[in-house]
Order: sequence, then structure tokens, then C-alpha cells
Amino acid sequence: MHELGLVNYVVEQVSKIAEEQNVKKIHSVTLQFGEVSGIVTSYLHDYWLWYTKKFPMFEGAELKTEEIPAVTWCDDCKITYSTVQYGKTCPHCGSGNTWLLRGNEMMIKEVEVEDVDAEADADSGAKPSDGAGGKLEASGEYRPQ
Ligand SMILES: [Zn+2]
Repeated sequence: MHELGLVNYVVEQVSKIAEEQNVKKIHSVTLQFGEVSGIVTSYLHDYWLWYTKKFPMFEGAELKTEEIPAVTWCDDCKITYSTVQYGKTCPHCGSGNTWLLRGNEMMIKEVEVEDVDAEADADSGAKPSDGAGGKLEASGEYRPQ
């Protein structure tokens, strides 16, 4: 259910931004999530397809995912190392005095939207159009409960 909550959150956030920007159609959403966040991409895509059907704005919207490598900080050596490779024990000094710096987060990296003025242009012929879609700025991290 982790993934369902995430999809729910993403749709909510993107809808909110889209409304503010007066965007009517989402083209794609790019998510970044940590290597050790426990998110299963195949579930994510399944839920995405199922859940976005309820929202016309998201019709046919593509979900893209990017992974953020997990990095752990050793407080004794004051250095970082790969979490997936070494876990909670520092490979340099053997200390357990470590914590995860990155790799457990989820962020909306990018939202691509369709050029909503394209159809209006055809009718009025007055508005200038660059013919390209736009991108929405999304920020904030998703923190699972
Ligand atoms: Zn160390």
C-alpha cells in the first residue's frame, strides 16, 4: 500500500500545481526516489494507471521514475559510503555510528504539461504560441508515515 499512498500524493500535488498554473492536461510526471525507499516500480506503474483514470487531467499521462543512490554518513570518519553495499556499518572504521543521508526520499522531479493554448489558437488565431508544452515546477519531498 506504500505505492498507492505515493501515487495518491503525487496526483494530489500535481493537480494542485496544475490548477494554480491553469494547466488542463498532464503529459508526464517524473519521480525520483531513493534506492532504499522500498518503492516497487512495477506496483507504482500499476497503481498509476489505475488511479489516474479517475482524473481527466491525467488521461494518458506517463509516469517516469529515476532512482537516487543511497548514501550513508559515518559520524566517526566524517565521510559517506554506499548504503546498499555496506549497510549500517562503516566500511572504513567499522563504526555503527552512521545514518542514512540520502536514499529514502521520494520527490516529484518534473511535470510536463501539454500546451493548453494550442486548440484555442486554432479558433481565435490571435494568441501567439511557441508550439511547445510546458513544465511545472514541483518541489517538496514525500515522507512516508
Ligand atoms: Zn567510519
